[in-house]
Amino acid sequence: MDDFFIAEEERVIAPEFIMGDNEIETSLRPHTLEEYVGQEKAKENLKIYIEAAKKRKESLDHVLLYGPPGLGKTTLAGIVANEMGVQIRVTSGPAIEKPGDLAALLTSLNDGDILFIDEIHRLSRSIEEVLYPAMEDFALDIIIGKGPSARSIRLDLKRFTLIGATTRAGQLSAPLRDRFGVILRLELYSPEELSRIVQRSANILGIEAVKDGALEIASRSRGTPRIANRLLKRARDYAQVMGDGIITVESAQQALERMEIDELGLDLVDRNLLKAMIENYNGGPVGLETIAALIGEEAVTIEDVYEPYLMQLGFLARTPRGRKVTPAGYSHMGYKPIIDDNTQGTFEAY
Ligand code: ADP
Repeated sequence: MDDFFIAEEERVIAPEFIMGDNEIETSLRPHTLEEYVGQEKAKENLKIYIEAAKKRKESLDHVLLYGPPGLGKTTLAGIVANEMGVQIRVTSGPAIEKPGDLAALLTSLNDGDILFIDEIHRLSRSIEEVLYPAMEDFALDIIIGKGPSARSIRLDLKRFTLIGATTRAGQLSAPLRDRFGVILRLELYSPEELSRIVQRSANILGIEAVKDGALEIASRSRGTPRIANRLLKRARDYAQVMGDGIITVESAQQALERMEIDELGLDLVDRNLLKAMIENYNGGPVGLETIAALIGEEAVTIEDVYEPYLMQLGFLARTPRGRKVTPAGYSHMGYKPIIDDNTQGTFEAY
């Protein structure tokens, strides 16, 4: 029984979509703003824009959602479509290879419909250029012919809404970013909010979870609903095999310990990262590329996936000279912080 969870090859607390999420994600996706837990600021704003657009019988302004993976950007786009009573087409930056792919998508949209482009920062320049007149004037400029006889004709599009999602708003080109009327940032969720999500998911999946058991899972989910739902499923498996199937504090704790997720939601990779920085570089400052080489991960993954949570916990800080492990990070890892007078006070908020 000891290798109950060893069969898992992928990182259980990866916030990105992994195989096996599919079946639960579809059933657990909230369909209305009412059901969507947390993100009060983004929700409040969207509610107003949706009502205003409906009153004026117009399409919604283009919306850019940004924030770490797994926080509910795709879900929110689906909710907007539902609340506006329109169709949604879902695609992603890397899936649109040629300008013609985007043109085909755009011409298939009806008035008010939503085109959702995930990972919009990965669109190529030539495709972005098709998007500019589409977003601004609801038109496609098509070049016909070649050389001196080439001419451009303009094709009118229906008044659609583009919802773009990105984990890295900074990588979006300025002309593209400027064409979004609404830009909303999604934040990591609090354990209380995540606990509401876990309880809602448990209800839908018919899992019995006591309140504190749900909170235990929530507090170890790195502020991310996708991870919370995944851990809930694992904790259910564990509770069913080891006990009566009910998720209690104890059974949740045991399941999470098996997955080597500590009481704050850090897994082996997070702990290796902190440990390597402490042991090899006295806690930093260490450059991003060096950290990437230290733990064998890509720099972008560290920036998008590991850092936001370690920074939210206050274990890692960005300084002008690189990343540093904070005294709190040292203590959590069981090391005594080295207080260096030269660097004291140089910790910076993310
Ligand atoms: P993203 O597009 O940001 O990567 P998703 O929208 O795919 O994230 O969300 C991942 C999963 O988390 C969804 O299947 C949904 O069940 C759940 N989820 C996300 N946000 C919420 C929320 N606010 N309330 C309830 N469930 C949520």
